[in-house]
Amino acid sequence: MDFAHFIGGQWVADSDVTTNRNPANQDDIIGTYARGGAARVDEAVAAAMAALDDWAHASPQLRHDVLEKAGALIVERKDELGRLLAREEGKTLAEAVGETVRAAQVFKFFAGEALRNTGDAVASVRPGVEVMIEREPVGVIGLITPWNFPIAIPAWKMAPALAFGNTVVMKPAELTPGCAWELANILEQAGCPAGVFNLVMGPGSQVGARIVEHPDIAAVSFTGSVATGRQVAVDCAANGKKVQLEMGGKNPMVVVDDADLDVAVGAALNGAFFSTGQRCTASSRLIVTKGIHDAFLDRLTAAAADLVVGDPLDPKTQIGPVVDQSQMDQNMRYLALASEEGCDVRGGGLGNGNGFFMHPAIFAGASNAMRVSREEIFGPMTSIIKVDDYDEALAVANDTEFGLSSGICTTSLKLASHFRRHAKAGMVMVNLPTAGVDYHVPFGGRKGSSYGPREQGSYAREFYTVVKTSYIAP
Ligand code: NAD
Repeated sequence: MDFAHFIGGQWVADSDVTTNRNPANQDDIIGTYARGGAARVDEAVAAAMAALDDWAHASPQLRHDVLEKAGALIVERKDELGRLLAREEGKTLAEAVGETVRAAQVFKFFAGEALRNTGDAVASVRPGVEVMIEREPVGVIGLITPWNFPIAIPAWKMAPALAFGNTVVMKPAELTPGCAWELANILEQAGCPAGVFNLVMGPGSQVGARIVEHPDIAAVSFTGSVATGRQVAVDCAANGKKVQLEMGGKNPMVVVDDADLDVAVGAALNGAFFSTGQRCTASSRLIVTKGIHDAFLDRLTAAAADLVVGDPLDPKTQIGPVVDQSQMDQNMRYLALASEEGCDVRGGGLGNGNGFFMHPAIFAGASNAMRVSREEIFGPMTSIIKVDDYDEALAVANDTEFGLSSGICTTSLKLASHFRRHAKAGMVMVNLPTAGVDYHVPFGGRKGSSYGPREQGSYAREFYTVVKTSYIAP
């Protein structure tokens, strides 16, 4: 089946298409998706500009109703959409349905936020003058999303953008256009007026780059790799656009001697390997104090070896495929590098079948200076770094150019509180995996991981609105 762009309320086909294949079975074709370029972005921006004034000044009730309906439609179709997600991205069906439900929750949350766009009234220093501070839409917003959360990330950008009265041009990752296409379809069914939401699919170098440079796009929200994100920020600054970036991670999870071993192994297994390690919040550095190190390593090695790698649609599967050949090649390069750097590599073998299957790998005996402990790998692999004590663990945890999520497993309130206050990361997890977050609270990091205002929860308003201060003399 062919899937078209959604521009100005119309489905617009392109002669050029991208074939969307299942990473668990390369013979399974999900569909062919229109592959646009700069001209399609220009059409979409024109449609978004035309729709902006009415949408920006529409009753928040209308915006609420569209988002609420979209959330309800996603829930109604959660099994079917979850299956599509598992087929196009490769996470397990349970994870994929969970992510789909999350997308619905995000729409419903921002349906409420549309009604809560409050301002301030402040006494002026000038007698008889009133001052009002209000939040207005930014304008046409460009959204650029990655492949690893193909329904949740588009949702958590689209929903706040629309809730606060902006119009949108969205470009999903080339590997996962299917979920984004379904969201466009759902918004149309939910009564979103023509031009308010536009979907243009195609390569980042053309569609993404044009979004970033288009003079009528006022702001860009980007999630993806550090290299692309930094270029997006430079180009947005050059064009005077507001920008928000969520990028990579090299998230540490500290395990100290007093940790509950079951909790620590469970958190590490989930954080490092679930979703095939393809999470920006994955626990890719396990920093373990010497008293518990050997027991933790043995237990984790055994538990990782037991994980079932296979077809995401099989309910027994715990780890689906890597997303594509190029990511698989990168994973294999890092696996070889870990041995070259002197790690004791456990696991990491290839799986069977016509897909990109690999078993989780543990890099025992790693140091924090090794490239495998410094660079984001984005696969089911993690370094185990042995340290003397908590102080060294904290120093190693913070010794990274990233700062998205961080975690500690301990039964000591004192250490948990100290870690929470001293971790240089946007999110801290105590006795929990570094990955796995709520949708009604801010999400984001520090240092190389994030740039600009936070996403999600009521904090999302900061990016998706601009402040206006009015002075009124009667
Ligand atoms: P990517 O940077 O390759 O692509 C992200 C998006 O940018 C895609 O839609 C792509 O087409 C587009 N793009 C590419 N070149 C562009 C250009 N020149 N101008 C504008 N847009 C362009 O990232 P990816 O491989 O899709 O995703 C994986 C990365 O995303 C990882 O680094 C991961 O850590 C990160 N990620 C971060 C978060 C977070 O919230 N921090 C969440 C998920 C993923």
